[in-house]
Amino acid sequence: MFNRENLRSLLLQLDGRGYKAYKDIRGSYQFSDFKLIIEHIQGDPFAAPSKFIVKIPQAIAQFPDNLYQSSSREVALRDYLTRQFDRVAQEMSSYRGTGKSGLIAIAHTGQEVLERTSAFIDNNEIEIRFLVGLPARGRTILGRQAAQMLCDEIPEIVNRTLKYNSLDANEIQRHVETNEDADWVRQKLKEKGLVAFIANSSILPRRSGIDLRPLLENVVAFQSPKSLEVEFNCPNRGIIKGLGIPTGIILIVGGGYHGKSTLLQALELGVYNHIFGDGREFVITNPAAVKIRAEDGRSVAGVDISPFINQLPQGRSTTQFSTENASGSTSQAANIIEALEVGAELLLVDEDTAATNFMIRDRRMQQLIAKDKEPITPFIDKVRQLYNDYGVSTILVMGGSGDYFDVADTVIAMENFYPLDVTEKAKLIAKENTSDRISEGGEEFGKITPRIPLSETIDPSRGRRAVKLKVRDIDEVAFGTEEIDLVAVEQIVDPAQLRAIAEAIVYAKAMYMDDKQIISAILAQVMADIQAKGLDILTEFPQGDLALFRHFEFAAALNRLRALKVK
Ligand code: ADP
Ligand code: MG
Repeated sequence: MFNRENLRSLLLQLDGRGYKAYKDIRGSYQFSDFKLIIEHIQGDPFAAPSKFIVKIPQAIAQFPDNLYQSSSREVALRDYLTRQFDRVAQEMSSYRGTGKSGLIAIAHTGQEVLERTSAFIDNNEIEIRFLVGLPARGRTILGRQAAQMLCDEIPEIVNRTLKYNSLDANEIQRHVETNEDADWVRQKLKEKGLVAFIANSSILPRRSGIDLRPLLENVVAFQSPKSLEVEFNCPNRGIIKGLGIPTGIILIVGGGYHGKSTLLQALELGVYNHIFGDGREFVITNPAAVKIRAEDGRSVAGVDISPFINQLPQGRSTTQFSTENASGSTSQAANIIEALEVGAELLLVDEDTAATNFMIRDRRMQQLIAKDKEPITPFIDKVRQLYNDYGVSTILVMGGSGDYFDVADTVIAMENFYPLDVTEKAKLIAKENTSDRISEGGEEFGKITPRIPLSETIDPSRGRRAVKLKVRDIDEVAFGTEEIDLVAVEQIVDPAQLRAIAEAIVYAKAMYMDDKQIISAILAQVMADIQAKGLDILTEFPQGDLALFRHFEFAAALNRLRALKVK
């Protein structure tokens, strides 16, 4: 095998030649401490950067195995290594010519700790996948700069970030322990009868809509009311106390600007773990929690929304409701049914993003518009049945209507960013001031009808390419010739998740969509495959830019495919 000096002289020889000559450096090189594998070479300096892999033996890296023994710890350590590599790569990376020349980059990480394909560790070795923008001026190879990047800078990054002795042992320990404790709390929620937990002294608000780090100034740390306080005895940090949100129907009320939506947003993302220092490390939510909102304009494919909507004008079916352009209420109904179809256990709803006519219908409106003239059965008349029949809880932010007092089990008021338990008070008010509404929901929630996706309607091809996928941030996937709009799917936190989801749809079609299996069964098999064999099964070649996703967001992407047809 070639070594570092062979690579250096090869690159120096390429200096001044046309960009295509870079293809000659594909292959493996044995450096003194690690192996460098050049997997894929970009076609030109503007194309997607070249794909590199570093493999460093544990004999040299020397990470103690207790840092990756459990799967919680392993995911955290892999995340940690990615962050370290990212930090030093950013420092090294510089503009060195045309296009992406000079770039050294690994998957970008945010506040969440996700399982990613950028870093792997086992008893044998560490594997890191990253990108390099091979340098050129115009289309002329800059061989000396390339030699500096590949033969000097990459070894320095490896030295500083992939050897245990060059890292902060305490920080690593804290990173893996925090992740393990968070997983542990999440796993214990059910046996305590909770859907979520928010530790005292958590910091919920973010700096801004585009800066998701914790707010620093004038911030009120979270403090549970005594009546709802619970504690967990975590394996690493020991006892931790905070607000335990019980199963059932939970109402979050309070004046405008008192922190209701901030609380709900933290709960939405509590299905993921967060890095130490995020402020939401111990905001832990049932992993089957799904944010529900109105999303007018979305397409819907054959969803049975009849628990909520019946007798639409012009006799449109609501047991197999399809549309290219859903309204606020029908989109919200479809979002709920689709979440239930794939096993949601907790719905999160914020009045800010809900359709009012879907949420409430008060006494006066009931008198003016008779039930047989209103297709919508409002959520207020179904939320209890949903819990009774299917065990699905709902957390609802609702500052604008007290009608929900009648159906709530727990009412939490946000006051100056502090949660108060006002359940008793709300119940008393409900008793003394009856809403006089007529309940319109019937005895039962209604059937949830599973759907079978028709394989031929899912087409990732574009032009001559059988599969063409492209992800734009966390909001959109170009899937073949179609754009899937995921702006309203708020629990996708990373473009790498969306990339994996797009690949997973292609994988699901190839492996399991036989026009017989229902959506939930297909998703379960794909998730089981990923669990057993890793995200690499989704792609032909190893990629460093995939991150694990939940099957709920996978379903959300599938359901928003405009071409989708079901039976
Ligand atoms: P609501 O939904 O009740 O109207 P929001 O949750 O939107 O209120 O919060 C209003 C503002 O207060 C936001 O700018 C948010 O960042 C900020 N905020 C929320 N919680 C806190 C807190 N604990 N400490 C300081 N500021 C907060
Ligand atoms: Mg709000």
